[in-house]
Amino acid sequence: MSIYDCGMKNLTAEVVVVGGGPAGLTTAVALAGAGVETVLVAGRTRAEDNRTTALLAGSVTALDTLGVWERCCEHAAPLRVMRIVDATARLIRAPEVRFDANEIGLAAFGHNIENRYLLAALDARARALPALSLIENDAEAVSTDANGITVTLDNGDTIAARIAIGAEGRRSLCRAAASIENEESPYPQIALTCNLSHSHEHYDISTEFHTESGPFTLVPLPGRRSSLVFVTDPEDTPRLARLPDAEMGQEIERRSHSTLGRVTVEPGRGMFPLVMARARTLAAHRIAVVGEAAHVIPPIGAQGLNLGLRDAATLAELVVAAHGDGSDVGSPDLCARYDHMRRADVGSRTLAVDVLNRSLLSGFLPLQGVRGLGLFLMEQIGPLRRAIMREGIAPMASQPSLMRGEAL
Ligand SMILES: Cc1cc2nc3c(=O)[nH]c(=O)nc-3n(C[C@H](O)[C@H](O)[C@H](O)COP(=O)(O)OP(=O)(O)OC[C@H]3O[C@@H](n4cnc5c(N)ncnc54)[C@H](O)[C@@H]3O)c2cc1C
Repeated sequence: MSIYDCGMKNLTAEVVVVGGGPAGLTTAVALAGAGVETVLVAGRTRAEDNRTTALLAGSVTALDTLGVWERCCEHAAPLRVMRIVDATARLIRAPEVRFDANEIGLAAFGHNIENRYLLAALDARARALPALSLIENDAEAVSTDANGITVTLDNGDTIAARIAIGAEGRRSLCRAAASIENEESPYPQIALTCNLSHSHEHYDISTEFHTESGPFTLVPLPGRRSSLVFVTDPEDTPRLARLPDAEMGQEIERRSHSTLGRVTVEPGRGMFPLVMARARTLAAHRIAVVGEAAHVIPPIGAQGLNLGLRDAATLAELVVAAHGDGSDVGSPDLCARYDHMRRADVGSRTLAVDVLNRSLLSGFLPLQGVRGLGLFLMEQIGPLRRAIMREGIAPMASQPSLMRGEAL
Protein backbone atom coordinates (compact mmCIF):
# COMPACT_ATOMS: atom_id res chain seq x y z
CA MET A 1 0.00 0.00 0.00
CA SER A 2 1.32 3.44 -0.89
CA ILE A 3 1.53 5.85 2.01
CA TYR A 4 -0.42 8.30 -0.16
CA ASP A 5 -3.47 6.27 0.71
CA CYS A 6 -3.13 7.97 4.10
CA GLY A 7 -3.27 11.37 2.39
CA MET A 8 0.34 12.29 3.27
CA LYS A 9 1.96 14.68 0.82
CA ASN A 10 5.26 16.00 2.11
CA LEU A 11 7.22 13.65 4.26
CA THR A 12 10.19 13.80 6.54
CA ALA A 13 12.22 10.68 7.26
CA GLU A 14 15.75 9.92 8.36
CA VAL A 15 16.65 8.12 5.13
CA VAL A 16 15.17 7.99 1.64
CA VAL A 17 16.12 5.13 -0.67
CA VAL A 18 15.40 5.67 -4.37
CA GLY A 19 14.87 2.54 -6.49
CA GLY A 20 12.95 -0.65 -5.66
CA GLY A 21 15.24 -3.22 -7.31
CA PRO A 22 16.99 -5.85 -5.19
CA ALA A 23 19.73 -3.48 -3.94
CA GLY A 24 17.30 -0.71 -2.92
CA LEU A 25 14.82 -3.08 -1.29
CA THR A 26 17.58 -4.80 0.69
CA THR A 27 19.00 -1.47 1.88
CA ALA A 28 15.55 -0.24 2.95
CA VAL A 29 14.70 -3.50 4.73
CA ALA A 30 18.05 -3.51 6.57
CA LEU A 31 17.56 0.10 7.76
CA ALA A 32 13.90 -0.09 8.70
CA GLY A 33 14.39 -3.51 10.30
CA ALA A 34 16.83 -1.81 12.69
CA GLY A 35 14.32 0.95 13.47
CA VAL A 36 15.59 3.74 11.17
CA GLU A 37 12.65 5.70 9.69
CA THR A 38 13.03 5.05 5.96
CA VAL A 39 11.06 5.96 2.85
CA LEU A 40 11.57 3.74 -0.20
CA VAL A 41 10.70 5.42 -3.50
CA ALA A 42 10.28 2.19 -5.40
CA GLY A 43 9.26 3.57 -8.80
CA ARG A 44 6.05 3.36 -10.79
CA THR A 45 6.86 0.62 -13.24
CA ARG A 46 9.04 -2.24 -12.24
CA ALA A 47 9.67 -4.14 -15.46
CA GLU A 48 9.28 -7.91 -15.48
CA ASP A 49 12.64 -9.56 -14.85
CA ASN A 50 12.95 -13.16 -16.06
CA ARG A 51 16.58 -13.45 -15.00
CA THR A 52 17.84 -15.45 -12.07
CA THR A 53 20.50 -14.50 -9.54
CA ALA A 54 23.19 -16.78 -8.19
CA LEU A 55 23.42 -15.52 -4.61
CA LEU A 56 26.66 -16.45 -2.87
CA ALA A 57 26.61 -17.74 0.72
CA GLY A 58 27.19 -14.33 2.36
CA SER A 59 24.25 -12.82 0.47
CA VAL A 60 21.99 -15.71 1.47
CA THR A 61 23.07 -15.28 5.12
CA ALA A 62 22.30 -11.55 4.94
CA LEU A 63 18.85 -12.13 3.41
CA ASP A 64 18.19 -14.79 6.04
CA THR A 65 19.17 -12.42 8.84
CA LEU A 66 16.81 -9.80 7.37
CA GLY A 67 13.84 -12.22 7.40
CA VAL A 68 13.71 -12.36 3.59
CA TRP A 69 15.16 -15.75 2.75
CA GLU A 70 12.43 -17.73 4.55
CA ARG A 71 9.95 -16.11 2.15
CA CYS A 72 11.65 -17.37 -1.02
CA CYS A 73 14.08 -20.21 -0.21
CA GLU A 74 11.73 -22.90 -1.54
CA HIS A 75 12.31 -21.43 -5.03
CA ALA A 76 16.10 -21.55 -4.80
CA ALA A 77 18.49 -24.29 -5.92
CA PRO A 78 21.84 -24.92 -4.20
CA LEU A 79 25.07 -24.40 -6.15
CA ARG A 80 27.26 -27.28 -5.08
CA VAL A 81 29.75 -27.40 -7.95
CA MET A 82 30.84 -24.72 -10.41
CA ARG A 83 32.62 -25.81 -13.62
CA ILE A 84 34.50 -23.65 -16.07
CA VAL A 85 34.85 -25.29 -19.48
CA ASP A 86 36.99 -23.78 -22.24
CA ALA A 87 34.73 -24.17 -25.27
CA THR A 88 36.83 -22.01 -27.59
CA ALA A 89 38.41 -23.44 -30.72
CA ARG A 90 41.66 -21.60 -30.03
CA LEU A 91 45.23 -22.79 -30.18
CA ILE A 92 45.69 -22.38 -26.42
CA ARG A 93 42.82 -23.93 -24.51
CA ALA A 94 42.54 -24.21 -20.75
CA PRO A 95 41.72 -27.43 -18.88
CA GLU A 96 38.29 -27.75 -17.26
CA VAL A 97 38.30 -26.32 -13.74
CA ARG A 98 35.87 -27.69 -11.18
CA PHE A 99 35.14 -25.88 -7.93
CA ASP A 100 33.39 -28.10 -5.38
CA ALA A 101 31.92 -26.45 -2.24
CA ASN A 102 32.80 -29.62 -0.27
CA GLU A 103 36.49 -28.80 -0.74
CA ILE A 104 36.08 -25.78 1.55
CA GLY A 105 33.71 -27.51 3.95
CA LEU A 106 30.47 -26.03 2.61
CA ALA A 107 27.35 -27.80 1.35
CA ALA A 108 26.91 -25.11 -1.35
CA PHE A 109 28.55 -21.91 -2.62
CA GLY A 110 25.15 -20.25 -2.58
CA HIS A 111 21.75 -20.54 -4.25
CA ASN A 112 20.24 -19.60 -7.59
CA ILE A 113 16.79 -18.03 -7.57
CA GLU A 114 14.50 -16.38 -10.11
CA ASN A 115 14.54 -12.61 -9.59
CA ARG A 116 10.74 -12.44 -9.44
CA TYR A 117 10.70 -14.64 -6.30
CA LEU A 118 13.56 -12.72 -4.68
CA LEU A 119 11.88 -9.37 -5.40
CA ALA A 120 8.50 -10.62 -4.15
CA ALA A 121 10.09 -11.79 -0.88
CA LEU A 122 11.93 -8.47 -0.39
CA ASP A 123 8.77 -6.55 -1.20
CA ALA A 124 6.68 -8.58 1.26
CA ARG A 125 9.27 -8.08 4.01
CA ALA A 126 9.46 -4.34 3.26
CA ARG A 127 5.68 -3.98 3.59
CA ALA A 128 5.72 -5.72 6.99
CA LEU A 129 8.15 -3.21 8.58
CA PRO A 130 6.50 -0.35 10.53
CA ALA A 131 9.55 1.94 10.07
CA LEU A 132 9.40 1.63 6.27
CA SER A 133 7.08 3.62 3.97
CA LEU A 134 6.98 2.34 0.41
CA ILE A 135 5.99 4.74 -2.34
CA GLU A 136 5.18 3.49 -5.82
CA ASN A 137 6.14 6.69 -7.62
CA ASP A 138 9.24 7.73 -9.54
CA ALA A 139 11.65 10.25 -8.10
CA GLU A 140 11.98 13.15 -10.50
CA ALA A 141 14.55 15.39 -8.80
CA VAL A 142 16.98 15.24 -5.90
CA SER A 143 18.49 18.32 -4.27
CA THR A 144 21.04 18.43 -1.51
CA ASP A 145 22.51 21.01 0.87
CA ALA A 146 24.57 21.02 4.06
CA ASN A 147 21.60 20.07 6.26
CA GLY A 148 19.70 17.50 4.28
CA ILE A 149 18.31 16.27 0.98
CA THR A 150 14.93 16.64 -0.73
CA VAL A 151 13.53 14.14 -3.20
CA THR A 152 10.71 15.38 -5.44
CA LEU A 153 8.36 12.77 -6.85
CA ASP A 154 6.70 12.72 -10.27
CA ASN A 155 3.45 13.97 -8.68
CA GLY A 156 5.19 17.01 -7.13
CA ASP A 157 5.26 15.67 -3.55
CA THR A 158 8.50 15.81 -1.60
CA ILE A 159 10.45 13.80 0.93
CA ALA A 160 13.04 15.46 3.17
CA ALA A 161 15.73 13.31 4.80
CA ARG A 162 19.28 13.38 6.16
CA ILE A 163 20.65 11.09 3.46
CA ALA A 164 19.46 9.79 0.06
CA ILE A 165 20.54 6.35 -1.08
CA GLY A 166 20.53 5.95 -4.86
CA ALA A 167 19.60 2.42 -5.94
CA GLU A 168 17.98 3.26 -9.26
CA GLY A 169 20.33 1.18 -11.36
CA ARG A 170 22.53 2.29 -14.25
CA ARG A 171 20.87 5.67 -14.88
CA SER A 172 20.99 6.91 -11.32
CA LEU A 173 19.28 10.21 -10.58
CA CYS A 174 20.89 10.40 -7.14
CA ARG A 175 24.38 9.82 -8.56
CA ALA A 176 23.87 12.71 -10.99
CA ALA A 177 22.46 14.94 -8.22
CA ALA A 178 25.63 14.36 -6.19
CA SER A 179 27.75 15.22 -9.28
CA ILE A 180 29.45 11.83 -8.99
CA GLU A 181 31.24 11.00 -12.22
CA ASN A 182 30.52 7.60 -13.75
CA GLU A 183 33.10 5.85 -15.90
CA GLU A 184 31.31 3.62 -18.38
CA SER A 185 32.60 1.47 -21.22
CA PRO A 186 30.51 -0.88 -23.34
CA TYR A 187 31.64 -4.35 -24.44
CA PRO A 188 30.86 -5.72 -27.90
CA GLN A 189 28.57 -8.30 -26.29
CA ILE A 190 24.88 -8.82 -25.57
CA ALA A 191 23.63 -11.30 -22.97
CA LEU A 192 20.60 -13.34 -23.99
CA THR A 193 18.76 -14.86 -21.05
CA CYS A 194 16.07 -17.49 -20.66
CA ASN A 195 15.03 -20.29 -18.34
CA LEU A 196 14.68 -23.86 -19.46
CA SER A 197 13.67 -27.34 -18.45
CA HIS A 198 15.73 -30.39 -19.39
CA SER A 199 15.52 -34.15 -19.45
CA HIS A 200 18.66 -34.87 -17.35
CA GLU A 201 19.41 -33.91 -13.72
CA HIS A 202 21.75 -30.97 -13.16
CA TYR A 203 23.04 -32.39 -9.84
CA ASP A 204 23.34 -28.80 -8.47
CA ILE A 205 26.20 -28.15 -10.90
CA SER A 206 26.57 -24.79 -12.62
CA THR A 207 28.63 -24.78 -15.84
CA GLU A 208 30.24 -21.75 -17.46
CA PHE A 209 31.31 -22.59 -21.04
CA HIS A 210 33.86 -20.00 -22.16
CA THR A 211 33.44 -19.19 -25.85
CA GLU A 212 35.01 -16.62 -28.19
CA SER A 213 31.99 -14.32 -27.73
CA GLY A 214 31.89 -14.68 -23.93
CA PRO A 215 30.51 -17.13 -21.37
CA PHE A 216 27.53 -19.41 -21.96
CA THR A 217 26.40 -20.21 -18.42
CA LEU A 218 23.86 -22.73 -17.18
CA VAL A 219 22.83 -22.38 -13.55
CA PRO A 220 20.58 -24.84 -11.68
CA LEU A 221 17.03 -24.04 -10.60
CA PRO A 222 14.84 -26.36 -8.48
CA GLY A 223 13.88 -29.60 -10.26
CA ARG A 224 15.05 -30.29 -13.79
CA ARG A 225 15.27 -26.61 -14.64
CA SER A 226 18.15 -24.20 -15.21
CA SER A 227 18.70 -20.60 -16.22
CA LEU A 228 20.90 -19.58 -19.12
CA VAL A 229 23.03 -16.47 -19.63
CA PHE A 230 24.29 -16.64 -23.20
CA VAL A 231 26.78 -13.87 -23.99
CA THR A 232 26.69 -13.29 -27.74
CA ASP A 233 28.38 -11.28 -30.46
CA PRO A 234 25.95 -8.42 -31.37
CA GLU A 235 26.18 -9.46 -35.03
CA ASP A 236 24.80 -12.86 -34.14
CA THR A 237 22.34 -11.75 -31.43
CA PRO A 238 19.31 -10.90 -33.67
CA ARG A 239 19.44 -14.33 -35.33
CA LEU A 240 19.70 -16.15 -32.00
CA ALA A 241 17.05 -13.98 -30.35
CA ARG A 242 14.56 -14.74 -33.14
CA LEU A 243 15.06 -18.51 -33.10
CA PRO A 244 11.77 -20.32 -32.41
CA ASP A 245 11.71 -22.07 -29.02
CA ALA A 246 12.29 -25.56 -30.47
CA GLU A 247 15.37 -24.45 -32.45
CA MET A 248 16.65 -22.42 -29.52
CA GLY A 249 16.37 -25.57 -27.38
CA GLN A 250 18.45 -27.52 -29.93
CA GLU A 251 21.04 -24.73 -30.10
CA ILE A 252 21.37 -24.71 -26.30
CA GLU A 253 21.66 -28.50 -26.20
CA ARG A 254 24.38 -28.41 -28.85
CA ARG A 255 26.36 -25.66 -27.13
CA SER A 256 26.11 -27.37 -23.74
CA HIS A 257 27.32 -30.68 -25.22
CA SER A 258 23.98 -32.30 -24.20
CA THR A 259 25.05 -32.22 -20.52
CA LEU A 260 21.43 -31.56 -19.53
CA GLY A 261 19.84 -33.77 -22.19
CA ARG A 262 16.89 -32.49 -24.22
CA VAL A 263 16.21 -28.80 -23.58
CA THR A 264 12.83 -27.01 -23.59
CA VAL A 265 12.97 -23.22 -23.55
CA GLU A 266 10.43 -21.48 -21.30
CA PRO A 267 8.63 -18.27 -22.35
CA GLY A 268 10.31 -14.95 -21.45
CA ARG A 269 13.69 -14.14 -22.99
CA GLY A 270 15.81 -11.11 -22.07
CA MET A 271 18.55 -9.14 -23.81
CA PHE A 272 21.19 -7.15 -21.90
CA PRO A 273 23.95 -5.17 -23.67
CA LEU A 274 27.06 -5.59 -21.51
CA VAL A 275 28.87 -2.65 -20.00
CA MET A 276 31.41 -1.98 -17.32
CA ALA A 277 30.62 1.08 -15.23
CA ARG A 278 31.91 2.44 -11.97
CA ALA A 279 31.09 5.56 -9.98
CA ARG A 280 34.20 7.61 -9.09
CA THR A 281 33.08 7.67 -5.45
CA LEU A 282 30.25 5.83 -3.72
CA ALA A 283 29.05 8.79 -1.67
CA ALA A 284 29.15 12.59 -1.64
CA HIS A 285 26.98 15.53 -0.53
CA ARG A 286 24.57 13.41 1.58
CA ILE A 287 24.00 10.98 -1.30
CA ALA A 288 25.31 7.41 -1.38
CA VAL A 289 24.89 4.89 -4.19
CA VAL A 290 24.45 1.11 -4.01
CA GLY A 291 24.10 -1.71 -6.56
CA GLU A 292 24.19 -0.86 -10.25
CA ALA A 293 23.95 2.85 -9.47
CA ALA A 294 27.50 2.34 -8.14
CA HIS A 295 28.96 -0.32 -10.45
CA VAL A 296 27.91 -2.50 -13.38
CA ILE A 297 29.92 -5.56 -14.39
CA PRO A 298 29.33 -8.33 -16.95
CA PRO A 299 27.57 -11.47 -15.68
CA ILE A 300 30.66 -13.62 -15.12
CA GLY A 301 31.16 -15.58 -11.90
CA ALA A 302 27.94 -14.25 -10.30
CA GLN A 303 29.41 -11.07 -8.87
CA GLY A 304 27.05 -8.16 -9.73
CA LEU A 305 24.23 -8.27 -7.21
CA ASN A 306 26.42 -9.99 -4.62
CA LEU A 307 28.58 -6.85 -4.71
CA GLY A 308 25.43 -4.70 -4.58
CA LEU A 309 24.17 -6.52 -1.49
CA ARG A 310 27.53 -5.96 0.22
CA ASP A 311 27.13 -2.23 -0.55
CA ALA A 312 23.64 -2.34 1.00
CA ALA A 313 24.82 -4.24 4.11
CA THR A 314 27.86 -1.97 4.66
CA LEU A 315 25.94 1.27 4.23
CA ALA A 316 23.05 0.10 6.42
CA GLU A 317 25.51 -0.87 9.15
CA LEU A 318 27.10 2.60 9.13
CA VAL A 319 23.75 4.42 9.08
CA VAL A 320 22.26 2.25 11.87
CA ALA A 321 25.34 2.87 14.04
CA ALA A 322 25.17 6.66 13.47
CA HIS A 323 21.41 6.61 14.17
CA GLY A 324 22.06 4.71 17.43
CA ASP A 325 24.63 7.33 18.51
CA GLY A 326 22.25 10.16 17.69
CA SER A 327 24.70 11.50 15.08
CA ASP A 328 24.02 12.75 11.55
CA VAL A 329 23.41 9.77 9.22
CA GLY A 330 24.34 11.83 6.17
CA SER A 331 27.53 13.40 7.50
CA PRO A 332 30.61 13.84 5.27
CA ASP A 333 32.45 11.48 7.62
CA LEU A 334 29.89 8.70 7.12
CA CYS A 335 29.94 9.20 3.33
CA ALA A 336 33.76 9.02 3.27
CA ARG A 337 33.81 5.88 5.43
CA TYR A 338 31.28 4.14 3.21
CA ASP A 339 33.30 4.93 0.09
CA HIS A 340 36.51 3.79 1.78
CA MET A 341 35.00 0.53 3.07
CA ARG A 342 33.67 -0.49 -0.36
CA ARG A 343 36.61 0.61 -2.52
CA ALA A 344 38.80 -2.54 -2.40
CA ASP A 345 35.94 -5.02 -2.87
CA VAL A 346 34.36 -3.13 -5.79
CA GLY A 347 37.75 -2.36 -7.38
CA SER A 348 39.11 -5.90 -7.21
CA ARG A 349 35.89 -7.55 -8.52
CA THR A 350 35.42 -5.14 -11.40
CA LEU A 351 39.05 -5.56 -12.42
CA ALA A 352 38.99 -9.38 -12.23
CA VAL A 353 35.75 -9.67 -14.23
CA ASP A 354 36.95 -7.17 -16.82
CA VAL A 355 40.28 -8.98 -17.35
CA LEU A 356 38.58 -12.38 -17.60
CA ASN A 357 36.00 -11.10 -20.06
CA ARG A 358 38.54 -9.28 -22.24
CA SER A 359 40.84 -12.30 -22.26
CA LEU A 360 37.97 -14.32 -23.76
CA LEU A 361 37.31 -11.73 -26.46
CA SER A 362 40.94 -11.11 -27.35
CA GLY A 363 42.57 -12.93 -30.23
CA PHE A 364 45.96 -11.89 -28.76
CA LEU A 365 47.83 -15.15 -28.16
CA PRO A 366 49.89 -14.12 -25.08
CA LEU A 367 46.73 -12.97 -23.29
CA GLN A 368 45.02 -16.27 -24.06
CA GLY A 369 48.16 -17.99 -22.75
CA VAL A 370 47.96 -16.11 -19.44
CA ARG A 371 44.28 -16.98 -19.08
CA GLY A 372 44.97 -20.65 -19.90
CA LEU A 373 47.85 -20.73 -17.41
CA GLY A 374 45.68 -19.18 -14.69
CA LEU A 375 42.99 -21.80 -15.15
CA PHE A 376 45.62 -24.58 -15.38
CA LEU A 377 47.15 -23.51 -12.06
CA MET A 378 43.72 -23.39 -10.43
CA GLU A 379 42.99 -26.87 -11.67
CA GLN A 380 46.36 -28.28 -10.53
CA ILE A 381 46.99 -26.54 -7.22
CA GLY A 382 44.45 -27.42 -4.54
CA PRO A 383 45.40 -24.69 -1.99
CA LEU A 384 45.19 -22.01 -4.70
CA ARG A 385 41.81 -23.28 -5.85
CA ARG A 386 40.50 -23.36 -2.28
CA ALA A 387 41.82 -19.86 -1.55
CA ILE A 388 40.01 -18.57 -4.65
CA MET A 389 36.80 -20.32 -3.60
CA ARG A 390 36.98 -18.83 -0.09
CA GLU A 391 37.67 -15.36 -1.47
CA GLY A 392 34.75 -15.74 -3.89
CA ILE A 393 32.36 -16.59 -1.06
CA ALA A 394 33.62 -14.27 1.67
CA PRO A 395 35.88 -11.50 0.31
CA MET A 396 38.61 -10.52 2.74
CA ALA A 397 38.03 -6.87 1.77
CA SER A 398 34.40 -6.88 2.86
CA GLN A 399 32.58 -8.79 5.56
CA PRO A 400 29.70 -6.61 6.80
CA SER A 401 27.82 -7.87 9.88
CA LEU A 402 24.73 -8.97 7.95
CA MET A 403 26.91 -11.27 5.78
CA ARG A 404 28.13 -12.91 9.01
CA GLY A 405 24.58 -13.46 10.23
CA GLU A 406 24.65 -10.63 12.80
CA ALA A 407 21.54 -8.46 12.98
CA LEU A 408 22.01 -4.67 12.88
C1 LIG B 1 22.19 -11.34 -17.68
C2 LIG B 1 22.56 -10.99 -16.29
C3 LIG B 1 22.69 -11.97 -15.31
C4 LIG B 1 23.07 -11.65 -14.00
N1 LIG B 1 23.25 -12.65 -13.09
C5 LIG B 1 23.71 -12.34 -11.85
C6 LIG B 1 23.97 -13.36 -10.89
O1 LIG B 1 23.79 -14.56 -11.15
N2 LIG B 1 24.44 -13.00 -9.66
C7 LIG B 1 24.66 -11.69 -9.33
O2 LIG B 1 25.10 -11.40 -8.20
N3 LIG B 1 24.38 -10.69 -10.21
C8 LIG B 1 23.91 -10.99 -11.46
N4 LIG B 1 23.63 -9.99 -12.35
C9 LIG B 1 23.70 -8.59 -11.90
C10 LIG B 1 22.37 -8.18 -11.24
O3 LIG B 1 21.29 -8.52 -12.07
C11 LIG B 1 22.36 -6.68 -10.95
O4 LIG B 1 23.49 -6.40 -10.17
C12 LIG B 1 21.11 -6.26 -10.18
O5 LIG B 1 19.95 -6.50 -10.90
C13 LIG B 1 21.18 -4.78 -9.88
O6 LIG B 1 20.18 -4.47 -8.97
P1 LIG B 1 19.89 -2.96 -8.57
O7 LIG B 1 18.82 -3.01 -7.52
O8 LIG B 1 21.15 -2.25 -8.29
O9 LIG B 1 19.34 -2.27 -9.92
P2 LIG B 1 18.03 -2.55 -10.77
O10 LIG B 1 17.68 -4.00 -10.74
O11 LIG B 1 18.29 -1.91 -12.09
O12 LIG B 1 16.86 -1.78 -10.01
C14 LIG B 1 16.72 -0.39 -10.09
C15 LIG B 1 15.28 -0.05 -9.72
O13 LIG B 1 15.17 1.36 -9.60
C16 LIG B 1 13.98 1.79 -10.26
N5 LIG B 1 14.16 3.20 -10.65
C17 LIG B 1 14.92 3.70 -11.66
N6 LIG B 1 14.82 5.03 -11.71
C18 LIG B 1 13.97 5.39 -10.70
C19 LIG B 1 13.46 6.64 -10.24
N7 LIG B 1 13.79 7.80 -10.83
N8 LIG B 1 12.61 6.64 -9.18
C20 LIG B 1 12.26 5.48 -8.57
N9 LIG B 1 12.72 4.28 -8.97
C21 LIG B 1 13.55 4.23 -10.01
C22 LIG B 1 13.85 0.82 -11.44
O14 LIG B 1 12.52 0.80 -11.91
C23 LIG B 1 14.27 -0.49 -10.79
O15 LIG B 1 13.19 -1.11 -10.15
C24 LIG B 1 23.28 -10.30 -13.65
C25 LIG B 1 23.12 -9.29 -14.62
C26 LIG B 1 22.78 -9.63 -15.93
C27 LIG B 1 22.65 -8.54 -16.95
